Amino acid sequence: MYPNLLKKRVSLTPTRLALSTESRSYTWQQVMSRVHELAGKLPFESGSRVGIWAKNSEDVYFWSLALMWRDCEIVFFNERLSEKEWAYQEKDASVSLVLVDDKRRFTNCPPNIVTFEEVADHEVAPYSSTDMWEPDRTISIMYTSGTTGKPKGVRQTLENHMTSALGAALTSGVLPEDKWLCMVPLFHISGFSMIMRSLVYGSALELHERFDAEVAVEAICNRGVTHFSVVTTMLGNLLDVIERDDRAIPSSFRVLLAGGGPVPKTYLLRAQAHQLPVLQTYGMTETSSQTCTLMPEDALEKLGSVGKPLFFADIRIDGEAEGEIWIKGAHVTPGYIGDFREKNPLTEDGWFRTGDIGRLDADGYLYVLDRRSDLIVSGGENVYPAEIEQVLMNHPHVKEAGVVGMEDTKWGQVPVAYVVMEPQDEESLRQLSKETLAKFKQPVIYHFVASLPRNASNKLVRRELKP
Ligand code: ATP
Ligand code: MG
Repeated sequence: MYPNLLKKRVSLTPTRLALSTESRSYTWQQVMSRVHELAGKLPFESGSRVGIWAKNSEDVYFWSLALMWRDCEIVFFNERLSEKEWAYQEKDASVSLVLVDDKRRFTNCPPNIVTFEEVADHEVAPYSSTDMWEPDRTISIMYTSGTTGKPKGVRQTLENHMTSALGAALTSGVLPEDKWLCMVPLFHISGFSMIMRSLVYGSALELHERFDAEVAVEAICNRGVTHFSVVTTMLGNLLDVIERDDRAIPSSFRVLLAGGGPVPKTYLLRAQAHQLPVLQTYGMTETSSQTCTLMPEDALEKLGSVGKPLFFADIRIDGEAEGEIWIKGAHVTPGYIGDFREKNPLTEDGWFRTGDIGRLDADGYLYVLDRRSDLIVSGGENVYPAEIEQVLMNHPHVKEAGVVGMEDTKWGQVPVAYVVMEPQDEESLRQLSKETLAKFKQPVIYHFVASLPRNASNKLVRRELKP
């Protein structure tokens, strides 16, 4: 059993800063008072499954805590889903009610939708809450990004979140003055895990609706932020601002987590030049965020690696040198809900099959190569689209790149590139590929396109690129 996290947190550090937004800040005691009030306004039985479909805001923060307080399961929907995509997930998760920030999301608003404002207007009614929480209780349900297929509803239990938070703490340490900057969505595990961590660590959260590189640099340089979590494009924008203004990064800024997808080596080198403590990390919805993280002391020597598994996590490669990455640990989901509930993602002895391909070096450091489903086999050689895309992305005029395999009678498959580039220049791309890639990895065709297919998580959906 674990203690009711908010109750325990308030009893330990009531006067510490818990949350700050652009307009306000709250101590843990103030967070508790607000959560108490909101929890009494929720119009259903404790223990229900309730959805939240909204942009990052103070409301999402407080209602999530209020739902947890009422022992509910929170289903987080991606704010950028289309109404149709959302309708599938809402039905799949069979939620009793969905809290939204704005009913204008709907052309025809279903009856089980309420806005945060509407619930806040309810009368406070008596309710029950629990002092001790079962480890296997579902705290949150999140859908995978749907990069390789239909999004899957993942159960994230208290044990999953606790293991993740404690494992991360053992990687980068916890200090009383820690302050996490949240500019990633709370409906993704990268964002919501910050709320869970702040409860466990007693650290503060500076919450923003969305990413803004200028605001992030201000927060890091002037507002005592110690931790920040980004995806690759955010890291690129952050580096642009830091380099443009030649900003000095305070030594109190300890952790810049970069994950969610491959990070180009050039970004890592630029970060190092500015003493930005980038920790490359590998994780997914099914592992309640980080599984592996590269320590800063290894950053140079193991450039491009996502590091070693956290203290409570274990990984293995299903194959000789390269193969599918399997993960084990108490941070791994017990399974999916809805359509995928019968699909047990675990092997008989408890390994989670990620669908990603990787390799371990002699020292046990993991290198993530690509998705198994996107692997191209050309003349018997494995070709990873991610590697080619990163090479193309190094061209100063390339904004986006996507690579897929095309059937070929001689080689089985050959790589084909889709590129967003201005001005278009096929010759220079061919030259770049020739200089950096083995012959069998060089794209045989370049298609110039206006944009690439991306899902609501902004991830490239390669299966929609059809050569
Ligand atoms: P779906 O499972 O529906 O296809 P998804 O796997 O993209 O979607 P997420 O859980 O959001 O859904 O993403 C996790 C995936 O992101 C990982 O399995 C991996 O492919 C990729 N990823 C995460 N971190 C890294 C990293 N550091 N390097 C390379 N890939 C990464
Ligand atoms: Mg996945």
